[in-house]
Amino acid sequence: MESANIVIIGAGVVGLSIASELSKDNESVYVFEKNRVFGAETSSHNSGVIHSGIYYPKGTLKATLSIKGNSMIYQICEKYGISYKRLGKLIVATGDRELKELEKIFQNGMNNGIDGIEMVDSDGVRRIEPAVQADAAIYVPSTGIVEPYDLMNYYYAKISKNGGIVALRTEVTGIRKSGDGYILDGISAGERFSVRCNTVINAAGLYSDRIAEIAGFDVDSLGYRLNYVKGDYFRVSGKPPVRMLVYPIPEASGLGIHLTPDLSGSVRLGPNAYEVDHIDYRVESKAEDFMASVMRFLPSISEYEIHEDSTGIRPQLRKKDGSYKDFIIRNEVDHGMPNFINLIGIESPGLTASPAIASYVSDIYKNEIRN
Ligand SMILES: Cc1cc2nc3c(=O)[nH]c(=O)nc-3n(C[C@H](O)[C@H](O)[C@H](O)COP(=O)(O)OP(=O)(O)OC[C@H]3O[C@@H](n4cnc5c(N)ncnc54)[C@H](O)[C@@H]3O)c2cc1C
Repeated sequence: MESANIVIIGAGVVGLSIASELSKDNESVYVFEKNRVFGAETSSHNSGVIHSGIYYPKGTLKATLSIKGNSMIYQICEKYGISYKRLGKLIVATGDRELKELEKIFQNGMNNGIDGIEMVDSDGVRRIEPAVQADAAIYVPSTGIVEPYDLMNYYYAKISKNGGIVALRTEVTGIRKSGDGYILDGISAGERFSVRCNTVINAAGLYSDRIAEIAGFDVDSLGYRLNYVKGDYFRVSGKPPVRMLVYPIPEASGLGIHLTPDLSGSVRLGPNAYEVDHIDYRVESKAEDFMASVMRFLPSISEYEIHEDSTGIRPQLRKKDGSYKDFIIRNEVDHGMPNFINLIGIESPGLTASPAIASYVSDIYKNEIRN
């Protein structure tokens, strides 16, 4: 049987970033990816926003890893010529209820130490983005956009340079414990295979709960079960109505339908958020619902045409009581599976956090696994 040191399941932005970090100091690092190309799932179906970390409760993984990831991504982009723009963002509010929410977000941002955030009044909003109408807004200068595939190509190049391997068309179908390590079974380019390895890292995104389940974790009692929460996008035709990112007050399942310019300046609306029971990347929402939602803070949207663009699906941990769910990133020693690192519920801001997640996992590996 073939053997490997570390096997990472999933070549999305998270699996690739982890592999790029671990392959620096370790031999025989493999990434297994079921699709023909890497990054074809959530990592290429998102807004491409470099988030600031303003929304997440202080001290959580989402907060710490997105704040660290934000500055790491800008450094990587500058150093390696990856396409990005530090556009800045407005979070807008209208009416008493939204203004109270806005104040809470601002306080959270201050607690999290987000650089340069400012509260602006309605005149300030108009000065920054003349077409936007709101009673007040938070201006967040550290938010930007990146081209996700450029970032993933950078991680991929680093893995190759370090001697790691990304095996495409390689699906893991079985995982069993064997001695101090694990045996993975799967299908690679139509052929069955088995490989023995010391460490398994589950970075399978939307499928990470299934991977945990086939490895024997009791996914429901551990709270690892995922919901699929889909988000559609529409594209605005013609001259862009805004220059920077403009967001409403967040909703329970997502950040609310917002305006995101891409690197060419063309603006997308979305994503919305609705639960689905299977993975399918077709846009199912209606343009008029998007128009109505955005009209509240950008009345001139009615003069534009919008067209179906794309969709993404959030791997969202099930919330029984609507409570906050953090990323799960852990070496599963206390569940009887040492050297098995699960990453589950890596929804937004997973793209932003990807380099910081890699260094977090690398620390777990150095401190708890490698001896
Ligand atoms: C609508 C939407 C908008 C978002 N916007 C942003 C944003 O603006 N900024 C931000 O920071 N984050 C954003 N995110 C979050 C971000 O996209 C994700 O956190 C990130 O892409 C997750 O990457 P991943 O590698 O964990 O998952 P994925 O990209 O899903 O990769 C997992 C990989 O595992 C593979 N896999 C699964 N099962 C197996 C198996 N059995 N064997 C082999 N391979 C397998 C899959 O094929 C897949 O390629 C958004 C997400 C969504 C849905």
